[in-house]
Amino acid sequence: MATKELDKAFEPAEAEKRLYDYWLKNKYFHAQDKSKAPAFSIVIPPPNVTGMLHMGHALNNTLQDVIIRFKRMQGYNTLWMPGMDHAGIATQNVVEQQLWKEGLSRHDLGREKFIARVWEWKEKYGGVIINQLKRLGCSCDWERERFTMDEGLSQAVREVFVRLYNEDMIYQGDYIVNWCPRCHTAISDLEVEFKQDQSFLWNIRYPFADGSGEIVVATTRPETMLGDTAVAVNPTDPRYKDKVGKFVILPLMNKQIPIIADDYVTMDFGSGAVKITPGSDPNDFAMAERHNLEIISIMDGQGIINDHGGKYNGQDRYEARKNVIADLEKGGYMVGTEPYAHNVGQCYRCKTDIEPMVSKQWFVKIKPLAKQAIAAVTKKKTRIVPASWEATYFD
Ligand SMILES: [Zn+2]
Repeated sequence: MATKELDKAFEPAEAEKRLYDYWLKNKYFHAQDKSKAPAFSIVIPPPNVTGMLHMGHALNNTLQDVIIRFKRMQGYNTLWMPGMDHAGIATQNVVEQQLWKEGLSRHDLGREKFIARVWEWKEKYGGVIINQLKRLGCSCDWERERFTMDEGLSQAVREVFVRLYNEDMIYQGDYIVNWCPRCHTAISDLEVEFKQDQSFLWNIRYPFADGSGEIVVATTRPETMLGDTAVAVNPTDPRYKDKVGKFVILPLMNKQIPIIADDYVTMDFGSGAVKITPGSDPNDFAMAERHNLEIISIMDGQGIINDHGGKYNGQDRYEARKNVIADLEKGGYMVGTEPYAHNVGQCYRCKTDIEPMVSKQWFVKIKPLAKQAIAAVTKKKTRIVPASWEATYFD
């Protein structure tokens, strides 16, 4: 046999590729469908197909690989199940950013061509991710590789959804969500970034319906007044003690709304009286539920005033703000403004200002599900390592 002189330095690129190919060729990573050996499996937390793997993936996949190889050597029928997550909104966003560089939007392309671009992206980066995992030496069962949008997985999602629905475990209801008017989707609290904005506090006069004077409310978003359904004061505020239960006329909209008392109102903000817009503010939404107030959504999914916004119907939210302020001034309702710094929530993907919006959402009754999951740990069927994380798990 011909011998090759040893390289002066170890060349991992050569050795790793040679060994990895050898492992693959001999199907060492492939789990048996049926086996007498005990089973051990890990489902990979599927990396998002949004880009390339980073150091965090390198660490967590190495840890999984160590465990999987250890179990394999102990004689288990071992499966490390690989796959990728379509990460719908995130993937749409990276493809849109790519389009922007070409001076295009998803609307220019139209639905079909845009979806084709997203699949193109998936093919390209999906391949990169798999190669990265292979270069890390990950001993995944590649013959079983899955994508979260595979027909089989979609079927499983439908199955679980319908089953939960039939068991009365999921239900639909109106809830206020963080809405991105550009991405056209609700986003989680964790996906909202706050940016300090130097703006104003507008003080607006709401006359009492019985003509006995007025109450002044302060707001950072005057345009939302179109959807006000109450004015709230603190129940212990001596200034408004005899005003609770009275009605005021909502300027520009010409309708009567009640004055209510709620502990949530802080007495030292503005005049101590605040406008309540349940359709545009999560705290006001909660207050509306406590007091059974009407909830009006004045904007559509694009952040454009709808027909609940009277004559401002069709105006963009920022345009409506200018016009509402001008009309309040014209009508003598504007008491004054003061500079005010406050935090504005933005979509972390596209930096558009978030619009709190009421929309139909699915909810899961988590208590009965949590009961079983908690029992699994308290009855030692499932072990959390290290045990100090049990408290977080129970939370
Ligand atoms: Zn967005």
